[in-house]
Amino acid sequence: MLSPKERIAMAEFKASIDQEWAAGRRLTVLLQEFVWRQWVMLSLCECAMSLPKDCFERAFILHHLTGHQKKLDGTDKHMAHLRNVINGKRNMDVITEDMILRAKEYPMKELVETNGRGRPAKCPWTDHQHDTRRPAVSIKHNKLYCFKCNRHGDSIDVTMLIEGLSFREAVRRLQ
Ligand SMILES: [Zn+2]
Repeated sequence: MLSPKERIAMAEFKASIDQEWAAGRRLTVLLQEFVWRQWVMLSLCECAMSLPKDCFERAFILHHLTGHQKKLDGTDKHMAHLRNVINGKRNMDVITEDMILRAKEYPMKELVETNGRGRPAKCPWTDHQHDTRRPAVSIKHNKLYCFKCNRHGDSIDVTMLIEGLSFREAVRRLQ
């Protein structure tokens, strides 16, 4: 465990080193680990294949192979992230809790068509235009409700629907 002073010193040190340089160093280490793990997996695989099908050792080795595969996938993802940092695309794909909250707070009134009195003019889920007696759509707590088709959604849902975006794209659009 680090003391508060040490933690601050560590944070300052981390902030002072060049992020891209650090990512490059880390990537070099990960790449070695990646190659090493592939070699281990190849050896294990060859070993398993040389054993009879019903022997315990073979099942044991295959089980280990699965574990190595999971770690390999993790390393692969980490390396992709580091490559993005080096290429200056850092955090392009990262959606944080904060971003989601901010997106949900995006005013619903600015996302949907409103009538003269500032109320939602139509339902984004279903075409209820044949029934115009009274508006069936309303906004409450920044969520859109349609009482004719019984659907509701927050700013993210509505943006995904209206603009045909994925969840991530909608969150980014609403920042
Ligand atoms: Zn509806």
